[in-house]
Amino acid sequence: MNEIATTKSSYWHCNHCYRILKHGEFRFNCIICDNYDLCEECFVTLDPPHPHRMMHELAYGKEETVQECQNASMANGIQTAITMYHDRYCLGVRDIDKINPALYADTYTWLTFETVGIRSKNFGQGLRDIIEPRCYLGICAANRPEWNVFQRKCSFMTTINIILLGMEKNRLRVHYMGDIETNGSTKQYNSVNIDPNECLTIVYTSGSSGFPKGAMISENSYRATFLQWCHPSPSDQINFCYEPLAWVSDRDAVIRTFFVGGRTGFSTGDISHLMEDLALVRPNNFSTTPAIWNKVYAEFKAALSLAIAHLLPEAVAAEEDRLLQQFSKLIPIRCKTITVGGAMISPVVLNFVKRCFSRCCIYESYGITECGRVTSNNIIKNTLQFRLISVPEMGYTIDDELFPRGELLIKTDEMFSGYINNPEETRAALTEDGFFRTGDIVELRVRPDGELYVHLIDRKKNFFKLSQGQYISPEFLQSIYIQSPFVEQIYIHGDLLADSIAAVVVPNREYAQAFALEHNLKNFDMINPDPQFYDAILQDLRLIAEKESLRKHEIPSQLIIDFEPFTPENGLLTSTMKPCRHKLGAYYGDRLKQSNTIKQRLKIIIETTTKQSLLTDEEDNFFIPTGGDSLTAIRLSRRIENDLGISVPISILLQPNMTLQRLATVIRDPSQMSSHSIVQQMLNDSELLLDITIDKRKNAIVSPSVVFITGTTGFVGAFLLAELLLVHSSECKFICLVRCESLTNPLDRIRKNMLFHQIWREDFQERIIPLQGDLEKTYFGLDNDIYESLANQIDIIFHCGAAVNFILPYSKLYASNVCGTREIIRLATHTTTCIPVHYISTLSVLSSDVNKEISIDETSPDSLVSGYAQSKWVAEKLMAKANHLGLPVVIYRLGSICASTETGACNRNDLHTYLFAAMMKLNSYPETIVNAHLHGLPVDFTAKSIVYLSSIQPDVYGKIYHIINPNHAVQFRDIIDCICHCDVQLESVSLEEWRIKLKTISYEDSPFESVGSFEDEFNNSFLNSVIDISCLAIKCS
Ligand SMILES: [Zn+2]
Ligand SMILES: [Zn+2]
Repeated sequence: MNEIATTKSSYWHCNHCYRILKHGEFRFNCIICDNYDLCEECFVTLDPPHPHRMMHELAYGKEETVQECQNASMANGIQTAITMYHDRYCLGVRDIDKINPALYADTYTWLTFETVGIRSKNFGQGLRDIIEPRCYLGICAANRPEWNVFQRKCSFMTTINIILLGMEKNRLRVHYMGDIETNGSTKQYNSVNIDPNECLTIVYTSGSSGFPKGAMISENSYRATFLQWCHPSPSDQINFCYEPLAWVSDRDAVIRTFFVGGRTGFSTGDISHLMEDLALVRPNNFSTTPAIWNKVYAEFKAALSLAIAHLLPEAVAAEEDRLLQQFSKLIPIRCKTITVGGAMISPVVLNFVKRCFSRCCIYESYGITECGRVTSNNIIKNTLQFRLISVPEMGYTIDDELFPRGELLIKTDEMFSGYINNPEETRAALTEDGFFRTGDIVELRVRPDGELYVHLIDRKKNFFKLSQGQYISPEFLQSIYIQSPFVEQIYIHGDLLADSIAAVVVPNREYAQAFALEHNLKNFDMINPDPQFYDAILQDLRLIAEKESLRKHEIPSQLIIDFEPFTPENGLLTSTMKPCRHKLGAYYGDRLKQSNTIKQRLKIIIETTTKQSLLTDEEDNFFIPTGGDSLTAIRLSRRIENDLGISVPISILLQPNMTLQRLATVIRDPSQMSSHSIVQQMLNDSELLLDITIDKRKNAIVSPSVVFITGTTGFVGAFLLAELLLVHSSECKFICLVRCESLTNPLDRIRKNMLFHQIWREDFQERIIPLQGDLEKTYFGLDNDIYESLANQIDIIFHCGAAVNFILPYSKLYASNVCGTREIIRLATHTTTCIPVHYISTLSVLSSDVNKEISIDETSPDSLVSGYAQSKWVAEKLMAKANHLGLPVVIYRLGSICASTETGACNRNDLHTYLFAAMMKLNSYPETIVNAHLHGLPVDFTAKSIVYLSSIQPDVYGKIYHIINPNHAVQFRDIIDCICHCDVQLESVSLEEWRIKLKTISYEDSPFESVGSFEDEFNNSFLNSVIDISCLAIKCS
């Protein structure tokens, strides 16, 4: 390939035989070992061969002549460089696979400086037949050598080339470049000289904040950009060109490389091959935009989050190091510097780049189309004049306390000479004394050594104001929120009408998929992502905001998820990969506005329902901190239905972390309400792995010596404890698990409860061992020693503790009823000898048409509507599972329970209790009630039944008993008679009248209001009327 025979030495030697390679000879360069070359002979004969891949490259030595061309024109400079470096590689493109032209080969083909020179010259000469010198010529091409041939010939011919990002094809004649070159090779025109102040090229701005403008760059400015031209570099200079050549910094890099005798390898233009191309060109500097690192960082974050999810905290650092190591291989070993520029880079991302590529020098560069390079690593170029001006409306002044802050104004030799055909914009861009208004807000600092440096804060045009006057810097926020592993791309939006910001997030697909898998979101829909996914992202952004001490209005309250990335193709990024704010705003505007109006209406509904005004601060979590409880939820649900026509289940309103925004999202798309199936959640929860092995069972004993019992501060639990105390010998002790504040005496709680129900006896006290603990916590939150001795002493467990509430959703009852049961199983199987469990369940776990004593495994959770029934169903599933694994379990399902036959002590929190209380308070009853019946089993009889059943066949386990009163019901007529016998006057009134009376005692949070949500629990006529009444009460409250 290389035919130039020479005896001149090159800069390289063979690392095996130490021979100095000749100029023009091939060398074989290792892609893994740094700076390691073999001569061709060693490469072929070495046995064993060098273990890594070697790439053949050209060795070259010192130039024959070094010419000084400091004062020459660009055209002369280029000609000089071509002469000096004539046989070196200049421009390279990746080869196409010989067998399959659709593929790329793993090699590059290079044009020498000489070839490039000849082709440029021919093309230029040929072009003269088509256009006149000093005409405009636009280039519309991808990055490739022809582009440069094209551009260089323009230097010879001094036509003005306009670098466009895209051009409409309305040309009538098509000339082929090859034809023009062939034609040009026969021509001999003289070159045209131009005045150094005349325009040489026009570069269009990226248009990130408006329409692109054509900046005219003169020969003089261009020359000032390349002060170092024709100074041969003593080292191998390799440039990798992949960013649009319309972009001034990348074009400059190609030219700069050209002048020092280096070579530029072009990417294939296919972004999916970018890293491959990079690995083949192996540049010594990799020049990048933040967009690339945002993408790499997003992948790193996602990989890290997934990798450490199940690691112990102490293992995290090692895993992070391992991943950093892995990611560091993205950059070839020969690359020693990384330049980041073109847009503001997030400090978080920059820090990642520095950690990951610690072997490279990282340069932050900041340049402007109109002025060329401004800073490198924040240090202002010393040939540049600059000053800051205050931007008081944003609160930035040059008198700011710590450092002067304001808009940066610049004057430089590299400056543009105006926007083409746009005198107004040109005038607006420049001050009277010729400084360019960059529009960039910076902070000016002084290093200890006196060097000035600037920190870019934001773009002036990007700032916006919220309705309450707070200024928002979106780029700054975007650079912070990019930390979230969910976020691949983010756009922060807001305007004068909004009182908080909104975010559009393009999620990381891999991370989203892992999330869906982990949360069992089957058929994860990318168009309408699951609400859980919304929540998780908002929650994560919130955590980051907290960590970074952001202000409240800087936290997004609205979120749009779009899996379609922002790209230059869809116009949401500029060709230089900057977010195109005005297009993003227009693109997402409608969706942002729509959710805003629903949000506004919802806000009003919530405010009128809770009678509290909702500050922006509270929108995050409007419900729980404003004292929201089930009653408020009922009212809110009805109001939303009335006003917006959407019925929102109470369970949705009570979801943890419900926000105004989330609620607005659900209302806009009600399908989201059902997309996360509670049944699916229950099935998952009931599949919980019980890590138990049963070796031995404790002997079933009729007279145990230690009984463990939960729920003794409740209604049934208290009677159960009393019955057990009576039945078992005075030697038998009862360990009662009680949850209470640390200063409260747990025994007091048990005693007070039993006193209220009139079943307390002083001699109980010495047999009760109160144990302060929490059913919801692992090991009840007890110390190891206590737990250990507990597990060893207990003979039998009665698990009666549960949260009984017919309004709260499953999620709120999960901890007490499901986790609590899991903890009982844990205790029962803690030692090798397991403890029999008597578990108090409820008939609610069966659908209403089932009353057989069937195993829970034969039932379906589909028809269970209350969170209580759902949680108890899952709990019973766990018990049944433990039973299959060998744990002795007896299950007692209770039906409706009523007052004690002996004392009349009743459940204070029972619907019937409320009703009787209301009747006595109003001295009246609705006439329709008299024919209704009250079903229920007296609580004392219930306790007796359980204790009796638990003792008759002490070694028969796996049984299920229904403790119900199937045949006997009390008529309300009799109850009313009884009340009257107690000298309480009760008169019969119409239902309508009673409703009106009820209103007078029905106030917010009063128990009379809560009746309304029993709809699905019961269905007799009496209760239906009660429901009517309560609904009315609720609506009027
Ligand atoms: Zn050798
Ligand atoms: Zn090697």
